[in-house]
Amino acid sequence: MQKITCKFGGTSLADAANIRIMQSIVQENPARRFVVPSAPGKRFDTDKKVTDLLYAWHSIATQGLDASEPKRIIQERFEKLAKELDVDFDVAPHLAEIEAHLADAGAVDYMASRGEYLNGQLIAALLGAEFVDPADHIKFTVGGDLDPATYPSLGDRLSRDGVFVIPGFYGALPDGTIKTFSRGGSDVTGAIVARATNASVYENWTDVPGFLMADPRIVDSPRHIDEVTYQELRELSYMGATVLHDEAIYPVREPGIPIQIRSTRERENPGTRIVPRRESTHPICGIAGHTGFSMLNIEKTLMNRERGFGRKVLTAIEELDIGWEHMPTGIDTMSVIIRDEELGSLGEKLIDIIQRRCQPDSISLVSGLAMIATVGQGMNHHVGVAARLFAALAEAKVNIRVIDQGSSEMNIIVGVEEEGLERAVTAIYRAFETWE
Ligand code: ASP
Repeated sequence: MQKITCKFGGTSLADAANIRIMQSIVQENPARRFVVPSAPGKRFDTDKKVTDLLYAWHSIATQGLDASEPKRIIQERFEKLAKELDVDFDVAPHLAEIEAHLADAGAVDYMASRGEYLNGQLIAALLGAEFVDPADHIKFTVGGDLDPATYPSLGDRLSRDGVFVIPGFYGALPDGTIKTFSRGGSDVTGAIVARATNASVYENWTDVPGFLMADPRIVDSPRHIDEVTYQELRELSYMGATVLHDEAIYPVREPGIPIQIRSTRERENPGTRIVPRRESTHPICGIAGHTGFSMLNIEKTLMNRERGFGRKVLTAIEELDIGWEHMPTGIDTMSVIIRDEELGSLGEKLIDIIQRRCQPDSISLVSGLAMIATVGQGMNHHVGVAARLFAALAEAKVNIRVIDQGSSEMNIIVGVEEEGLERAVTAIYRAFETWE
């Protein structure tokens, strides 16, 4: 018998009508036995997510101000849901309990997690399913990493027959204090549940039917991605393709459980399947790009002979606690590409340290770059991919500032001036839209 874990995002659970859709999706397939809900999200553009209201409640209350408004809005939302869904669920005692714990140490994560907790209770009542509190099974180490003991513990708890609801977004530290994942972390819970139950597939239900080959705000009606490998997706999401939380891949990657991104708005659409391996007839699966990068350029004659040169540069970067992204090198040159949000205002200080320790012939920092990743596992056995890509950029008159290809040979990354981002993405997309 197949076992399916299905995670539903906040927009797909924002109101009673959407929750009914979730209910019919779960009930139409008896294999859908493990349901991981987010907290109710936005019903319309200016609406508030329940998680944001909880953060606001905590922040207002801990400043000694009147937090009755976020509390009231949360109360009204759950009361409305319970009434419209005709479910016996009284939110008031839960809110009183939350209020009593407001001033506890670590209360921020506890508060933030209550959106999923409450929604989980409501949905379990609606489905007639068993509620499982992740605080009892999803465990973090003191350092904040996921404790591998989570999998047998949760697997054991979920080994009986029936349908289970396991709220997303949180677990607990060894002392029982609630800890959340980063925002959007219910995707990670879904992956953990899928692994713990040895699911045949992890369905991630959201409001879009998966991934597109390029950002639709840049390219008009880009092609849909039907299948993508974990690694390809990792490369695309690292460069800005968002739909799934970055860390959701790790729990399912090792056992090779596929993730299926599906839309509750287009139920007949099979969405995007994320798999360990795939056959590729087309060398490219997607193009993702982002602004906000700077490049440190260092030049020194005979750099390649000087022992420890690279180490000294990277040590300086590490000492300032700056994360870096790419490091293309030449014989006497080395560049380090850094996200602006990592670099902050440390640019001058970094140059100063490297100047003193490495005495380069020249050093400069170029800002205002956009990096574009063209990703596809097929590119390493197709001839002419790079030629087509660079020809397209030349034709679109995009000035390429830097090129990088990782050893995975699964991507070609180009750095261009920010104003060229859209032109570059469109040109690359058009060049690879079809491949014959
Ligand atoms: N509710 C949490 C958030 O808004 C987690 C989630 O929805 O995945 O970030």
